[in-house]
Amino acid sequence: MKKLLLVTLMLSVVSSIQGQTSSGDHFDTGKGSLTIYPVLHGTLALTWGNRTILVDPYGGKDALGAFSEPDLILITDIHGDHLNSETLDEINTENALFVVPQAVADKMDEKYRQQIKVLQNGTETVWNDIEIVALPMYNLPESADSRHTKGRGNGYVLTIGNKKIYISGDTEDIPEMRALKDIDISFICMNMPYTMNVEQAADAVLEFKPRVVYPYHYRGSGGLSDVEKFKSLVNAGDKNIEVRLRDWYPGN
Ligand code: ZN
Repeated sequence: MKKLLLVTLMLSVVSSIQGQTSSGDHFDTGKGSLTIYPVLHGTLALTWGNRTILVDPYGGKDALGAFSEPDLILITDIHGDHLNSETLDEINTENALFVVPQAVADKMDEKYRQQIKVLQNGTETVWNDIEIVALPMYNLPESADSRHTKGRGNGYVLTIGNKKIYISGDTEDIPEMRALKDIDISFICMNMPYTMNVEQAADAVLEFKPRVVYPYHYRGSGGLSDVEKFKSLVNAGDKNIEVRLRDWYPGN
């Protein structure tokens, strides 16, 4: 009987951990709760008050159908896992503002023309009390024929209440990332050969020291990167940085 009770208890703990993940991660912003949902690869959703924000919507209705229609959509780059017109066609974007770099705006369908706000690297805007700063994202060494050339795509820093959130986009461990200050929550890509390896990512994170880091965008040509290794590298250098491993590839 005792054994059964213990098993039941353990099962309920496991299911509540899983439940927590699927219902998102909550952060107090001093102005209401921010909820962050890891969705797929480089795609995430955030809700704050009555606002729903999607970053790099990809994966179609299957991945995003459960969320309210977005008010704001941030896109980092032109590639299909970031600007995905099939997904944009499958979700209701009627009332959304798109914040995108110029190269993305140039590739978007004419029907979105009135909904686009272009941000170039180093510029910023404010939307519904959320400050949005565009940062560079690019491969090193810089070259004209690299997969991600400097100036084309945007990483973003969002300020939501008292929380600063960094979304890396597809990048290596560029000086602009290493120089970030006071980041509360960060999303860091790590897939080869497109962005960077887990060692580079950990080294950069140890320099700018976000309070919470989510490895994301970690499926590369050789499969998934070793995010457990990333976590142990980060925590070997600084045990106060919280590395959150989430399932960004459901069904894999
Ligand atoms: Zn990508």
